[in-house]
Amino acid sequence: MTSPTTKLVQSGIGWDPAFGAVVPPLYMSSTYVWPEADVESKGPYDYGRTNNPNRDLLADALAELDGGTGAVVTSSGMAAIDLVLNLLPVGAHVIAPHDCYGGTHRLLSARHEQGQIRCDFIDQGDIEQVRQSVTDETAMVFLETPSNPLMRLTDVRAACDAARHAGALSVVDNTFLSPLRQQPLSLGADMALQSTTKYLNGHSDVVGGVVVAKTETLHEQLAWWANAAGLTGSPFDSYQTLRGLRTLALRVNAAEANAGQLVALLRGHDRIREVFYPDAGLARAQQSGPGAMLSFRMETAAMAADVLKRINIFRLAASLGGTESLICQPATMTHRGMDPDARLAAGLDETLIRISTGVEDATDLVNALEAALAL
Ligand SMILES: *Cc1c(COP(=O)(O)O)cnc(C)c1O
Repeated sequence: MTSPTTKLVQSGIGWDPAFGAVVPPLYMSSTYVWPEADVESKGPYDYGRTNNPNRDLLADALAELDGGTGAVVTSSGMAAIDLVLNLLPVGAHVIAPHDCYGGTHRLLSARHEQGQIRCDFIDQGDIEQVRQSVTDETAMVFLETPSNPLMRLTDVRAACDAARHAGALSVVDNTFLSPLRQQPLSLGADMALQSTTKYLNGHSDVVGGVVVAKTETLHEQLAWWANAAGLTGSPFDSYQTLRGLRTLALRVNAAEANAGQLVALLRGHDRIREVFYPDAGLARAQQSGPGAMLSFRMETAAMAADVLKRINIFRLAASLGGTESLICQPATMTHRGMDPDARLAAGLDETLIRISTGVEDATDLVNALEAALAL
């Protein structure tokens, strides 16, 4: 069997039916000529919202990477999350993690307030809580593991089992690890989604998303809603993301190796209270590696602010998964939109710092962090 690394490098290569371009050309056209005013005569493409060659090439590569039957490429990670909610009837019961991505928390809370869904935010690190929250009325179990930013893990297999027994759909936001480190569909999920803004594009220059479906039926429903609601991603973004995807394995391997070195420094450092990095226990069972996201707590908020101010190389910015290392304070940055009580309940105070490790030289990164931590 061909390895995912090879498939990623090869994705779309040599596809061009017109001139044999090695790299697939960019099709910007929003509409396509019909040979005759007869649907039978029409080629595979007619209107850009519905389908586009660049988006299809990316979707095929991503479906294969996650082991799904098909994928729908969306204009953002949030559009991918809103897309899966479209599968639900009004008032459907949804279970989600209380420490999910801030934007996900905001969207699910707003949909709950509107009465579109009934959402229970629970601690999915505790699988018993998941089992007890799923009832016959539950329509969707939404998972995100490792969680952002505390890297709490959810037992994907057990949670998806609970969903299936209740007749609910299961979906995993797998953005933090990428399909190279965790395969939600093979762990039992119905759908795996990604903010392709992060590792898949990997160069912090596209906002995009994808939902990969296990079954053909689900894929058809997702494609129908993406077209009906206009959630699909643009040709240029798809082109860029396919290009980024070719180096995914190189980038994830390099960033993960760098993260390991930063974690070793932090775990032995006397100014650090706690380090969060998913490299033990359940992570070993359901992930093929720990990934390159980590977070840590300092003794005080003032110390954390000091580190953020003094650190070199690492840029103070939200987002993650790019070639460059980023550092942030979730409480005031990525999770500032959360209700303050919910934020504290999820363990996000101002002593917490999150790092997205890039692919720079490991020694430079370790030296920069060590210098910023020095009194
Ligand atoms: C960034 C992110 C999203 C949202 O994706 P966008 O592309 O910014 O819309 C969703 N989930 C997780 C875990 C993320 O990191």
